Amino acid sequence: MSSTHSLLLIKPDGVERQLQQAVVEAAEEAGLTVVCRHRLLLGEEEIVRAWADTRRSEHPLEHLSLDFWYGGRPMEVLLVRGPDAFTRANRAKSVVRAAYRLGPFGNVVHAPDHTGEFELQLSVFAGDCPTCAGTLSTHFGDYGDVPQAYPPGALLPAAWRDIERLRELAQPMWEDPASCFWRPTYPQPYRSGESAGAQDHAVYIAASPNQLSFDNLVGAMLTALPGIAFPHALELIVSALHHQDFTLAVGTLAECERYRDALMAQGLNTPVRTLAQDAVRRREQIRTGATVGTSGAAAA
Ligand SMILES: [Zn+2]
Repeated sequence: MSSTHSLLLIKPDGVERQLQQAVVEAAEEAGLTVVCRHRLLLGEEEIVRAWADTRRSEHPLEHLSLDFWYGGRPMEVLLVRGPDAFTRANRAKSVVRAAYRLGPFGNVVHAPDHTGEFELQLSVFAGDCPTCAGTLSTHFGDYGDVPQAYPPGALLPAAWRDIERLRELAQPMWEDPASCFWRPTYPQPYRSGESAGAQDHAVYIAASPNQLSFDNLVGAMLTALPGIAFPHALELIVSALHHQDFTLAVGTLAECERYRDALMAQGLNTPVRTLAQDAVRRREQIRTGATVGTSGAAAA
């Protein structure tokens, strides 16, 4: 068992900003010893294996963001050792992020949460490093049987599980986040085209819905909000991952209660409030630029 080992992955933005030493120091201050440190370059095949706990065929959006963030960009991996290594490595991660994070795609460093994730990722990150490979106790074979990180959820429609089609749609968002989901006033919430009555209520996400993958979150939106367009559902979910209490849909009380029930059945925490409360909340978001500090697996 490698319970006394963990790893810190210095992401491409951390390497570009030369924050390696800051990560090393945070690890040491957390009581960990850096046992090995080496450069890392991941291609698509390596990403598929290192995140085999989030199967690419079922979670193409998760993998697309991994491709965007990590694919072909220099990173470094630190193998660390110490008591409670997972807790301490995550503490070091939090310290570094608090000091250096730059928005949703610049959070510098990653640390696994448990032994399974550590073994899986290090089995790929080790590359041909004998020190890193020497700490592993699991053999993953063809990576087909890796236990999945997320509980089963609504998949994207088959037509949208084509990662190249998703890439075409999502690339502009990823390359220029400020153009869309980084503004509190955009995208506009979903509204039914067949609404009967005053649309004076709203459904919002009350907490960062991190227990579901991007794909399951978007799948839940497509299931719960009749006729919503796929790009709109995607923009709303990516926005919700980066803003507190993000408004997903507006409608009559009865409509919003239906949306809420359908979304909650998929695992989202989505209460209803009045539009007046919603407007106050949005003004507050615009004033403070309030964001939540977390997003899906890629930022974990
Ligand atoms: Zn190594």
